[in-house]
Amino acid sequence: MRLPLTCMKCAVGANASSHPPYPKYVELRDDGRYEFTCEKGHTTVTVLQEQKFEVLFDLGAYAILDGYYREAVASFTSSLERFYEFFIKASLFEDGLEESAFAETWKEVSSQSERQLGAFIFLYLKCFSERPALLRPKQIKFRNEVIHKGKIPSRSEAIDYGQAVLETIRPIMQRTKTALPIGVQQTVLNHLKNSRKQDESQSVTTMTIATTISLNDGSGNEPSLEEALSEKEWWRARW
Ligand SMILES: [Zn+2]
Repeated sequence: MRLPLTCMKCAVGANASSHPPYPKYVELRDDGRYEFTCEKGHTTVTVLQEQKFEVLFDLGAYAILDGYYREAVASFTSSLERFYEFFIKASLFEDGLEESAFAETWKEVSSQSERQLGAFIFLYLKCFSERPALLRPKQIKFRNEVIHKGKIPSRSEAIDYGQAVLETIRPIMQRTKTALPIGVQQTVLNHLKNSRKQDESQSVTTMTIATTISLNDGSGNEPSLEEALSEKEWWRARW
């Protein structure tokens, strides 16, 4: 999976008679920060607005298109775990918690996903007075076999699992956007801020991409994983 980046300085300078600059495709980065120099020597910094869980889910989808089904299951699993982190942040920031306090406490759970899941379940209970819908035991068993026991999943097993993750995240994400608007906004803002350097002197552009699970998308359009795969395949054939 790569991102198309366009030099904003060249894009602004383009007029009706000249072709707008072609995008340059860059590899994904963990920090969401993309610094590149165009053919004319302009250096620009672009920060990706999408949250980790949104990007990781699409990485899983591309892994399916590439035939790497174990990797797809791993990326879908990471997407769900990072979604739980997103929810935990949104619910705490909704109540006005400082990010530094969150970051300090997160260290206690950062390397143990079971602890994070526990935090998610009880913060969800606090927000909505009911327990959250989680992955079913059958899917958890499948995931553990793939990730810990070297099981080689088929394409359809990977898609079923990805679809289950999609159906777990989407309703909770919609509910979170409605119930915790301040917390969601603060989580997005912190994410953008953390992708910048402390002493950033040059201008930074924010970029957003269309992902299968999309916090930004208010269209109500919720494609299944199969539909999202068809669409990605169509686009990729034209790169
Ligand atoms: Zn340029």
